[in-house]
Parts: sequence; structure tokens; C-alpha cells
Amino acid sequence: MSKDKSAKIPTPQPVRGTQDMLGDFADRFAHVVETFERVRRLYGYKRVEVPVIEPTAVFARSLGETTDVVSKEMYSFEDRGGESITLRPEFTAGIARAYITNGWQQFAPLKVATHGPLFRYERPQKGRYRQFHQLDAEVLGSDSPLADAELLVFADQLLKDLGISEGVTLTLNTLGDADSREAWRAALVEHFMSHRGDLSEDSLARLDKNPLRILDSKDPRDRPVADSAPDIDAYLTGEAQDFFGAVTSGLDAAGVAWQRNARLVRGLDYYRHTAFEFVTDRLGAQGTVLGGGRYDGLIEALGGPPTPAVGWAAGIERLGMLLESTPQDFLEFVLVPVGGEAEMLCLELQATLRRKGLSCDMGFRGNLKKRMQRADASGAVAAIIIGEDEMREGEITVRHLASGQQARRNLAEIRDARAGATYTRKLLLEGIDGNNWSAE
Ligand code: ATP
Ligand code: MG
Repeated sequence: MSKDKSAKIPTPQPVRGTQDMLGDFADRFAHVVETFERVRRLYGYKRVEVPVIEPTAVFARSLGETTDVVSKEMYSFEDRGGESITLRPEFTAGIARAYITNGWQQFAPLKVATHGPLFRYERPQKGRYRQFHQLDAEVLGSDSPLADAELLVFADQLLKDLGISEGVTLTLNTLGDADSREAWRAALVEHFMSHRGDLSEDSLARLDKNPLRILDSKDPRDRPVADSAPDIDAYLTGEAQDFFGAVTSGLDAAGVAWQRNARLVRGLDYYRHTAFEFVTDRLGAQGTVLGGGRYDGLIEALGGPPTPAVGWAAGIERLGMLLESTPQDFLEFVLVPVGGEAEMLCLELQATLRRKGLSCDMGFRGNLKKRMQRADASGAVAAIIIGEDEMREGEITVRHLASGQQARRNLAEIRDARAGATYTRKLLLEGIDGNNWSAE
């Protein structure tokens, strides 16, 4: 073995398609999640957590062997006990599995939401990763079109509260009930069979197993045949028409704009009625920011009781990329001690202010000049300076960083346990930050 101390240990590279986040990207990510958490509470969706790993059958059965995800994108492996395990490529199947195995039927209709990492073996590119993250919302155990409408209003408010609804369109379709869908499917197969010579190889392969998917084919060779295919409208049963009408009336009542896209489909048989996508032209080829639909047959396909359900998912990274600006963490005060004794006093004051709910920070070391430089660079509102002078007087100096104005305050008053965040902030900043505090 070489004893050369300069020989460096090679650093393992990150797995392709994964990301480390710090700064701008991480702040955007956190803002998307925080906004989602706030909005889901406004809509009464309970937080749910499901495992990252599931038996492979959970996804193979629910997504279907013919989908891209199952046929080529899953991270599956055999664990040490010989069981085939898959890293979740989506949330819905795991939540449906949990609904069955925990007997969550007792809570139906169950409104739940979650977020977290998902894994798909895809070719990494902008907005497409191997580990990515989604927000997810589901209503299990309701066959009401009002559940579909509520989920869409929830999605719409999320995008508006994130400030990214500009240029994003809700596109909507119905796949009807089982009878409508079967009749439409037959009409589609007939149409595609009579134009089979004009279809791409991929679409020819789909003709048998998944003819609906030909409709949303991205291959330009398929577009003329797909575009001239019959819409579902002529095949909708009265019930299916009423259902779709109730969803769109619900959207209109809540003031959510939508557009019909008769080419929007879900390939699998258990998808019923509503299918939707919020699409944008701002993300190039990765244009879908949020998508979902009604999956009334899924829970049965997993061996559970017949259970109507509907839900959506949205990519967190793609939402983050659409944010206009990077939301900054808001820091109010930086504490600046001068001397060792003042440092302990600052630590104590900092803990007190934080417990009151004011955001504070203090460098672990540094002289007055260094600390003031860092305070200025931090974007904080004010610095709280404590030196020998202040200690002798039982006071602190508060310096408003933007204006450079400063004032002395009585330390005991600031520390007063009875004063909350708002009052303490006023005591600290009144007269130096340019705000008219008496008007508040
Ligand atoms: P795409 O057509 O872009 O592959 P998809 O139909 O596979 O999307 P869904 O399974 O419906 O996507 O997932 C919902 C959302 O999750 C997408 O709209 C997107 O925002 C996000 N998403 C899906 N796959 C990835 C990925 N590999 N990397 C980042 N985000 C993704
Ligand atoms: Mg995909």
C-alpha cells in the first residue's frame, strides 16, 4: 500500500438524476411545500404518510404492466428476504394500498394530502429527474362530482397562492363511466384500424392493449389520425354526461376557469369520468405542472372493496421553477455582542426573543466590525448591539440596518415575559424604522 499522504480519497459522485439543494432551489422547494401545507388545511385535507418502499405488485397492478412507469421507469430490487420491492414512482397506489390494509374505509370519504420523494429511472433533463418530489391530494370513498370539483378548486388556489397561475391552463376531459368508455374504446379501435398504415410503431403496439393512449401520442406521425378520431361525447351515457356537467358547474360556481381537451386520456381501465391537467407553455417539453383524475376501479384492482376515488399530483421542482422570485427566509434581528460577558447576555436575550416568536441570529464568533458586516449582509431588519456601556446602563442599542438610525432601549422592558412578539417588535423598532407604529 502507498504511504503517500497526498493521495486523495476519491469522493463518490451523486446518483445520476438526483439533486442536492441549497440556496435558491432549496428556498423555492420549501416555499412550494409550505404553501401546499397551508392550503390543504384550508380545504380540510388530512396529512397522510405512506412508505417510500412498497411490494412491487402495488405499482405493477395499479399502474398496469403496459405503462411507461412500470415497463421501464421503476426502481425495483430484491431485498435480503427475497421480496421484490419498488421505490415508489407515484403516491396514489401506495395510498390506495394503505386505505385497504388499514381499514380506512371507516373514514370515508377520506380527504388526504402528502408530499415527498418519488423515483423513476428516466433520462435526466431540465425538470426531469430520477429522484423528484410531488405534492399529492386524494379523496377516497366518494363518488360525488363535488369531490372532483373541490380537488380542482384546491389545485387552482394552490397555483394562484404560489403566484404561478398566469399562463397555466386547467384542461379537462371525461372518460365516462364503464359503459361509455367501452363504447368509445370500440369506436376508437375501429377508427385506428382503418388508418393503421399511418400510425407509428409505438401506437400500433398500443392498439391492442391501450388504444386510448394513441389519442395523446406525442409522435407527429400519429397526430392526424389521433386528431380525426371520434370524441367520447357521442358515447357518453346520460349518467356520465350529468357527472361531467356537475364537475364543470362546480368549477364555474367556484370561479375556476377550465378548457375542454377531448384528447386528454388515462390509459388504464380503472380511470373513470374526470381527467385533468394544468398545463403551461413555460417549461418547454415538461409542460404538465399538475395532473390527475378519478380512479374508481383502482382500489378493487388492488384487492379492496369497490371504492370510488379521485386525486391529483404535482411536481414540486417544476412548481418551484415557475415561481417568479425566490422567497427569502425572513430574519428580523441580528445580535451583536462586544466582549465575552456581553456574549452570554446576547445568548440569553436571543433565546428570549426567539421564544416570543421573533426570528434572530447571532454569529458564533467575530469582532464588532465583522459582526456588523455580517448583520448588514444578512438582510435582517435591525442589529441589537450590547457592549460594556449598554451593560452598565441595563440597556441595548437597536440599529435599523437599512437607514442606519439607532436608539437605546431598556433591556428589562424588552425581556418582559408578558410582552408578545408584536409588542416587543414595536418596542425595539419604533422611531428608527420609518414606520408609524402608533397607527397599527
Ligand atoms: P411527463 O409526461 O412529464 O413524464 P407524467 O405523466 O409521467 O409526466 P405524472 O405521473 O402524472 O407525470 O406525475 C405528475 C407530475 O409529476 C408531473 O406533472 C410532473 O410535474 C412531475 N413529474 C413526473 N415525472 C417527473 C420527473 N421524472 N422529474 C420531475 N418531475 C416529474
Ligand atoms: Mg413520465
